[in-house]
Amino acid sequence: MVENQKDKEFIMDITGTHIWYYFICQREVWLMIHHIAPDEDDENLDIGRFISEHSYTRNKREIVIGNIKIDRIRKEGKQLVIGEVKKSSSYINSARFQLLHYLNTLKKMGIEAKGELLFPEERKKEIVEWTEEAKKELEQAMENIRRIARMPIPPAPKKISFCRKCAYREYCWAEE
Ligand code: SF4
Repeated sequence: MVENQKDKEFIMDITGTHIWYYFICQREVWLMIHHIAPDEDDENLDIGRFISEHSYTRNKREIVIGNIKIDRIRKEGKQLVIGEVKKSSSYINSARFQLLHYLNTLKKMGIEAKGELLFPEERKKEIVEWTEEAKKELEQAMENIRRIARMPIPPAPKKISFCRKCAYREYCWAEE
């Protein structure tokens, strides 16, 4: 697809969901950005459902700031701490960069914060901090997402464990 107005719209609006999927499957990022409908009969039809199912829903109080949704906000002394609550640490790298994207978005608004990933069922917690180095990695990922978005066809499918629960599995692997 050549770069046109439609490309610019989605290039401008990279979300936490795009970042989350980027670290799992770049083909899925392309399919989502290009609004390719997943298998209508698939139980994972709602593309956001998987993420929310892997988020911790008990006592959930989401806070919406701009286009980001934050699970928890608290103060630690003078430090603002934003928390992302997940059911499992299976996709921890995706979760780290999703949270880093939130920290970066807040920083652009002039809000300094620290992040924490919370895995209550595993009794685990990981601190995520905005640093220049982390920001560079995030920007590299965002640049790659833009590059993927401009590709005329999606990246070839690669069989990964996530395919088993992916709403696009029929689309990618129907001939197997
Ligand atoms: S089925 Fe696998 S290769 Fe295809 S989009 Fe989903 S995760 Fe990616």
